[in-house]
Amino acid sequence: MKRVYNFNAGPSAMPLEVLKEVQDEFLDFNHTGMSIVEISHRSAAYQEMQDDTVATLKKLLAVPDDYHIVFIQGGGSMQFVMHAANFLKKRGGYLNTGVWSNKAMEAASFYGETYEVASSKADGFTYIPKADRFVVKPDTDYIYMTSNNTIHGTEWHDFPSFDVPLFCDMSSDFLSRPVDVKNFDFIYAGVQKNVGPAGVVVAIIKDDLLKKVCRDLPLMLQYKTYVDHDSTYNTPPVFNIYFVNKVAHWLDDNGGLAAMHERNKKKAAIVYGVIDDSNGFYRGHARVDSRSLMNVTFNLPTKELEAQFVAEAADHDLIGVKGHRSIGGCRASIYNAVTEEGCQALADFMKAFQKKH
Ligand code: PLP
Repeated sequence: MKRVYNFNAGPSAMPLEVLKEVQDEFLDFNHTGMSIVEISHRSAAYQEMQDDTVATLKKLLAVPDDYHIVFIQGGGSMQFVMHAANFLKKRGGYLNTGVWSNKAMEAASFYGETYEVASSKADGFTYIPKADRFVVKPDTDYIYMTSNNTIHGTEWHDFPSFDVPLFCDMSSDFLSRPVDVKNFDFIYAGVQKNVGPAGVVVAIIKDDLLKKVCRDLPLMLQYKTYVDHDSTYNTPPVFNIYFVNKVAHWLDDNGGLAAMHERNKKKAAIVYGVIDDSNGFYRGHARVDSRSLMNVTFNLPTKELEAQFVAEAADHDLIGVKGHRSIGGCRASIYNAVTEEGCQALADFMKAFQKKH
């Protein structure tokens, strides 16, 4: 069996222990004599697994009792639509820190006025704006933010608070560190970076927020449908939720989110350390105070060298270090499942590449 060091931005590396466990159980889920992909989502065996997934996520994130956790299909992009469909009555404020918040704002404008509470767009989304720059207009229904900017490699290290409901897309740093769920009214994460196969979103919704739904919508677009029917109004993506269950237990067994955060800080320091010690050969895209622990973005002196870097990295089994097509350059995504050893292998390669060129 060949396994490479996988730095893809999503879908991305999953913990090897979890992949093996899923493989071992694949033909016989929990002594049912059937695969997880063969059992009914109305069966007790399925329900027990889904309940356990919710309970384990609640434990990891210390989710208060007045929040619901539901599973929704359609990926992050469906949430760009749903959050506004349900809650944008007059105007929605956006902390615009990257391509994904920008897309959410564009999608939301279908339902009402949207505006930037703060933005780093004019500077190529290289930093996270400071609170003294925020402008919140009257009658703002909610403020929307993206905790980690996958493409640009920036991350909110401290979360702002507002007098209006705060929504957060945590797709690319979900379960990578502890967060205070109470600070938010709505959190969602497409699972395909840190938590499982693409195809499901974990949504954490404050009960009070459901009273603020502002228009009639088709049932499948209402958060209330997912809450009222415990995510099984229709057939849920059973395999994805099962995988999330395994990853949640893997995190719990390995010390929870505080321990994961420490590991992620250590890993990121290994890669950023090479950038900082390279005398400008590697140039980080993100401002130092805004650096992401999940996606390390950088440029080399020329486009040709960048292409060569990506190709030679692949020859060393370091896969997926090409930057997003919208900004170019290089990007190493070092999500939870990427090991310290993987980060060290990348760092060693970066040093050797610089020496050679
Ligand atoms: N939000 C963030 C932070 C992302 O990184 C992505 C995709 O990479 C999305 C949303 C869009 O997710 P999806 O492709 O599931 O629609």
